[in-house]
Amino acid sequence: MEDTYRHKGMRRKLVNEIRKKGILDENILEAIYRVPRHLFLDSGFLQYAYEDKPFPIGSGQTISQPYTVAFQTELLNLKPGMRILEIGTGSGYQACVLAALNVAVYSIERQKKLYEKARNFLPRLGFDVHLFYGDGYLGLPEKAPFDGVLITAAAPEIPSCLFDQLKPGGVLVSPVGGAEVQTMVRYTKSKSGKIGREKFGSFRFVPLLKEKAND
Ligand code: SAH
Repeated sequence: MEDTYRHKGMRRKLVNEIRKKGILDENILEAIYRVPRHLFLDSGFLQYAYEDKPFPIGSGQTISQPYTVAFQTELLNLKPGMRILEIGTGSGYQACVLAALNVAVYSIERQKKLYEKARNFLPRLGFDVHLFYGDGYLGLPEKAPFDGVLITAAAPEIPSCLFDQLKPGGVLVSPVGGAEVQTMVRYTKSKSGKIGREKFGSFRFVPLLKEKAND
């Protein structure tokens, strides 16, 4: 659980790389700097932790590429104190980046092993994230409404209950599409409840799956 000057130096380089790729929000760049990504990978993979690439985290899943984490975070238009629902906790890295921006984070994971790993690990890092084991297709009605919903897996379509759990004026950000490639989409719920849609280019995510895994 070490975070040394060397790690911080590697993170500073990563932040510069992401800035060059077009992430301009300094608060988000600072959040990427604050979260020690190497601690989310098994030790031995240090050289990969600060490359701007996704990486396997076990159970057939990946920790998202830092640029993608920053990009999705930017699309959420966060303000401190907002309530954000993440679907697909995975390693918990994205959830910590959100928490570092002083929003209240609720995150759901359907694979028990990943959920338990994150539940044990995140408090040790000092990030306050509310973790839930369950099916993100259902959202988290008991904690709704949310200012933003972030899906970090590829959704063939957005379950309509997730729009119901958004506040008027809230946004839902998700990669939408099939297994090969998806379009990043931001949906905005108007005051009257109408859903607007904007597209933001192509990405590749692991699929959002229905029902819980048997692990
Ligand atoms: N946000 C993660 C990366 C997510 S990878 C990070 O920062 O590391 C996508 C995750 O979504 C995987 O962990 C996968 O198990 C989870 N997932 C897939 N379908 C799901 C569903 N229906 N509900 C909740 N989580 C789901």
